[in-house]
Amino acid sequence: MIVVMKQSAKQSQIEHVRQRIEGLGLKSHVIVGEERTVVAAVGAKRQQGTREALESCEGVDNVVPILAPYKIASTEVQQHPSVVTIGSLTIGGGTIGVIAGPCSVEGEEQILETARQVKKGGATALRGGAFKPRTSPYSFQGLKEEGLRLLALAREETGLAIVTEVMTPSNVELVASYADVLQIGARNMQNYDLLAEVGKQPKPVLLKRGPSATMEEFLLAAEYILDQGNKQVLLCERGIRTFESHTRFTLPLASVPYLRQHTHLPIVIDPSHGTGKASLVAPMARAAVAVGCDGLIVEVHPSPEEAWSDGAQTLTPTAFEQMVAECSKVAEAVGMKIGT
Ligand code: PEP
Ligand code: MN
Repeated sequence: MIVVMKQSAKQSQIEHVRQRIEGLGLKSHVIVGEERTVVAAVGAKRQQGTREALESCEGVDNVVPILAPYKIASTEVQQHPSVVTIGSLTIGGGTIGVIAGPCSVEGEEQILETARQVKKGGATALRGGAFKPRTSPYSFQGLKEEGLRLLALAREETGLAIVTEVMTPSNVELVASYADVLQIGARNMQNYDLLAEVGKQPKPVLLKRGPSATMEEFLLAAEYILDQGNKQVLLCERGIRTFESHTRFTLPLASVPYLRQHTHLPIVIDPSHGTGKASLVAPMARAAVAVGCDGLIVEVHPSPEEAWSDGAQTLTPTAFEQMVAECSKVAEAVGMKIGT
């Protein structure tokens, strides 16, 4: 439930409500809005009389149930859009972040060259997989810690924030020690131990939608991270599995306005994995901006045909630069801007 504090509520009254909620065996989350503060009380242990107990606290305006199954992610708890800023990357609140880079980190020259090129093309963060979840165990699995080290080198040179995937709970600390944003891959969207672990550390998390997950499952996965105290969650629509085979996945852009209505979390679109075809990436990126996304994540490689993974959906630096220029025009038309 949500405890809505009066506009005039004092800090000590908010703190008292928070302690009361914890004392009742629930978790408290304080959300400071422009007009007033609300304290969300969430957890399975709701006893009779909880609502009345909270309603009678000083400084409380009213107590209302949260109807959505996800709680902290919901617009019922927080109406104003969340903005995530880390280093060169800002996502949300009218600013569109552009995360670009190769599917996999392949070596020093490749990642440094890509970082320079995507920065020139308008990227505000660098992506690159060091730990790769591959469908086949015989495919390249990533350079692992060496890949993280190379990403950090690219950040040092270009100033671009780094987005990279973490696949297992035991690697969260290691990846977080190099990365600016931790990516949870589509295949791991329902790895609840991993979600809880990234929720316990302070770096922002880019959560990709599972290819067969419903919107509700997607938002509940985000809730696992939020529930641990990490409020910096970015939702990434990266396409779902359907009967259709002309594209690698089907990229449902209606996810953007739907999520906008139901959550305050920033929304990122991945037109690379969403289509699987380089020629479709820029048109879908433009459409994603038009429909109101807060960020794009796009695969770029100096030589896509030589890429060790996902070459067919990867843009050249020139095509990327053109994509960003086109997206900027669309952004301007819808009252947003691409940048930091
Ligand atoms: C990736 O970003 O390279 C990746 C593996 O994405 P997804 O988890 O969406 O398949
Ligand atoms: Mn990829």
